[in-house]
Amino acid sequence: MPGAVPPPSPDEPVGRYPTVLAAPGTESPKSKGKRKRALGDENKRTVRLRLLPNGSQERKLRRIADTAAKLWNELNHARLVQHRESSAIDFKGTEHEFYHRYKSVLGVNAGQVINLNNWMWKSFFELSRLYKQGELPKFMGKPSPPGFWKDRLLGRRELRVLVRNDRYYIEPINNGEGYLVLKDWGLRIRYAGRIKWSGKQGTLVIKYEGGRWFAYVPITVGEKPARSNPKGYVRGIHEKIQIEKPKGNNKAFIDVGLNNLFAVAFSHTNAAILIKGSTIKAEYYWWKREIRTYQAIRDWLKHRGFELWKKYHALYMHAVYKRRERLRHYYRTAVRFLTETLHEMGVDEVFVGYPYLVSQDNGNEYNTNIWWYAKVIKWLGEVLQEYGIKLNVVSEHGTSKQCSICNAEHENGRVKRGLYVCPVTGIKINADINAARNIARRVGYEVPIPRKILSYIVTSNGVKPITPKEGVTVETPTMETPP
Ligand SMILES: [Zn+2]
Repeated sequence: MPGAVPPPSPDEPVGRYPTVLAAPGTESPKSKGKRKRALGDENKRTVRLRLLPNGSQERKLRRIADTAAKLWNELNHARLVQHRESSAIDFKGTEHEFYHRYKSVLGVNAGQVINLNNWMWKSFFELSRLYKQGELPKFMGKPSPPGFWKDRLLGRRELRVLVRNDRYYIEPINNGEGYLVLKDWGLRIRYAGRIKWSGKQGTLVIKYEGGRWFAYVPITVGEKPARSNPKGYVRGIHEKIQIEKPKGNNKAFIDVGLNNLFAVAFSHTNAAILIKGSTIKAEYYWWKREIRTYQAIRDWLKHRGFELWKKYHALYMHAVYKRRERLRHYYRTAVRFLTETLHEMGVDEVFVGYPYLVSQDNGNEYNTNIWWYAKVIKWLGEVLQEYGIKLNVVSEHGTSKQCSICNAEHENGRVKRGLYVCPVTGIKINADINAARNIARRVGYEVPIPRKILSYIVTSNGVKPITPKEGVTVETPTMETPP
């Protein structure tokens, strides 16, 4: 199913899989190397703004974005040909050729498109090397070279602009709206959106998504701009990522899953937390059906030569976009809620199991889940950082089979309706909390058997507590998988 895996966000240009290399530099070539490398990406955040161009601005933006996409595609094609012929690429030569071909329209920003393409090819070579050595996780499959900025069915280019960090600035009116100024094209476009962080701005990415224009502004939080570019500083609400301090030294152990988005056990608290993902799952399947229907109609029309297929393709693309936006909203709400709760419970360190998925019947579904898990863990790390809570990622392999009560791997310690039943002690425990307790043991913590389970559900209006019926506190009601 094309489009099942959401396209990459600009801060993770490699897309489908966790990347091996660090993202390309977000500063102009002049300032390269001066930055403190030790900080890594911990102090980087990307702010998303909705752009509201007027008619003539939109036409101009389209032309620029189409030119940038054309540059990307031509450069990438030239490199693909070289790669097929000799498996090596003349980076310098192609770079020179295409930069000069496109600088009249794109100015120095042509270099940003080229840098991103360089980085994706280098990342591809690095991944291929690891793949050949058998060092890539199985789910990643064989790496493929960078793709084109193109809608394969329509043959239309995807609209995207990259703007160098010193070729734009932001003029806020208040914290909710303002103007984005693009120096090279004489554009001053209204935007809507809250800017949470203050700091030095990086390469701007403008994208046309689901019929809307968005600007993604990477910010190195708290860092001052280069003296040569004093306007390259974004003014937001916070100058530091850490806003709060931990209230205690409680440790939390988290299992991430589908039925329970988060199952949490604690080192110093006699309770556990379940945040149910059934709403997310239901909505995921609803959009999945919607997407499949449009896709089927589109293909039927297309094969019979009806031009109307384009309309259904647009509906299909929109549904893919909507699903991504909805899930993003749910997951971010859940992550924010969980973090605030952990903070209130005095947590200063979190251990999260990196989901290990088994027996997947559908490759795309599998990729989609992996993609979302990686996202959720990344967001969790970012929000925890605001509270000064440390995040550790632990391999989850085997934690669902193991018994957290007596620490054995029971042959018949089966999971029944969301319960793990220990055949030795007869104790029943929620299967996901069992996994969370095993994560704790894996990193050397003994966790009390939770007496109380606090259950919550993620809704579109926030996370709501569920009052369980008496006597079923430890049980997770599993949702039927829709057909
Ligand atoms: Zn047991």
